[in-house]
Amino acid sequence: MDRVSDVVVIGGGAIGGSVAWALARRGVSVTVVEAGRIGRGASWASAGVLAPDWNVHDQPALAELASASLALWPDWVAELEDWTGVGLNFRRDGLLNLWVDPEASHLPRDLATEPPPRCPGQQWLGAAEVRALEPGLTGPILGGVLSPDDAQVDNTRLAPALVRALSLLGGRILAGTPVVALTGSRGRCTGVRTVAGPEIAAGAVVLAAGAWSGPLAAASGIDLPVVPWRGQMLAFDTVVRPVRHIVFCGELVLVPRPHGPLVVGTTLEDVGFDARVTLAGLHEVLARAVRIAPGLGDLPLARTWAGLRPGSPDHLPYLGPVPGWEGLYAATGHGRKGILLAPLTGDLVARLVLEDAVDPRMEPCLVGRRDGPPSLRGGAGA
Ligand SMILES: Cc1cc2nc3c(=O)[nH]c(=O)nc-3n(C[C@H](O)[C@H](O)[C@H](O)COP(=O)(O)OP(=O)(O)OC[C@H]3O[C@@H](n4cnc5c(N)ncnc54)[C@H](O)[C@@H]3O)c2cc1C
Repeated sequence: MDRVSDVVVIGGGAIGGSVAWALARRGVSVTVVEAGRIGRGASWASAGVLAPDWNVHDQPALAELASASLALWPDWVAELEDWTGVGLNFRRDGLLNLWVDPEASHLPRDLATEPPPRCPGQQWLGAAEVRALEPGLTGPILGGVLSPDDAQVDNTRLAPALVRALSLLGGRILAGTPVVALTGSRGRCTGVRTVAGPEIAAGAVVLAAGAWSGPLAAASGIDLPVVPWRGQMLAFDTVVRPVRHIVFCGELVLVPRPHGPLVVGTTLEDVGFDARVTLAGLHEVLARAVRIAPGLGDLPLARTWAGLRPGSPDHLPYLGPVPGWEGLYAATGHGRKGILLAPLTGDLVARLVLEDAVDPRMEPCLVGRRDGPPSLRGGAGA
């Protein structure tokens, strides 16, 4: 048997990293076990948008978690930057959520044609006001809702920063080390077994393996219906920001990074564990983008990529103890909002592991809840 850790966290993404940092700050000895490179899963592929409510379909429980997590972001990210010296480019650019004229010709699929619900603090804009704010948006836009508090972050640096913060507190990181099984006896999880061989024993184990959490749980007979949802993205090379705000319109997202590029997404696809970019996916994303902002068609394409979101049937994450496995906790299934939900997830799961405290906001997210029929649509986000 290998060295004993108080807690083993499976997965070095934004969620595993956030839980690990939250535990280490409370004095816990933590080991993060990551199959590949730290932070190269969905957390790297993400658009990095921090926006709680841009769609009428979001469940109230998800909207509540998302708003609470957004409120934590400014202090959380400032502390993380202070600790690690890693700049994360958290910016409150505001988000402009558009809808377009359903009668417009050549309308690509999945552009929003209806106004989003009105929320406090948001500003409704007519077509002319949208144009005045963002002159590059010359598509068939009928109006927009501006959410000034919504933000963005450099998601590619987030998980590495969290894991660096953990290592500065004495935590252990095993990258390139896939967990192959949970270990346990008599209803208690006692650690994990990795490809490297020996068991890593732990007082508690947190399953935060993103889209791969489902199969890993299933290998131990645990029903955790987390499934991969592919999202394809691209970036245009530009130093002059073609838009000032983050822009949403249905499945289209435009994210102007502070010093370029312009990040554009995304698709939502149920294709299993296939994280490849396809021509059809890129075409879908580009068709939407140039319909809203035709000038984008002249920009040089910088790169394309894809990632697998950890989806759940009802679009809520799984947060909480795993029934029948004392000492095993789930922190996964964050779907389209895992970057946004990272600070709150870390806090809630750390308190759960240490104090056995189930925050009321976690109750709709408990493992073993009655899931509705699986649906890809219905949740909102990037
Ligand atoms: C295209 C796209 C756009 C997105 N845009 C946004 C957005 O704008 N805002 C937002 O909030 N969210 C967004 N998301 C969702 C967000 O990225 C995810 O919800 C979040 O990154 C999930 O984090 P995670 O740590 O659970 O998963 P991941 O980042 O995937 O991390 C899981 C880690 O577990 C590791 N792992 C897997 N199996 C094992 C094993 N057996 N042993 C050890 N380690 C293992 C993986 O290698 C991986 O590193 C987007 C996602 C995508 C794909």
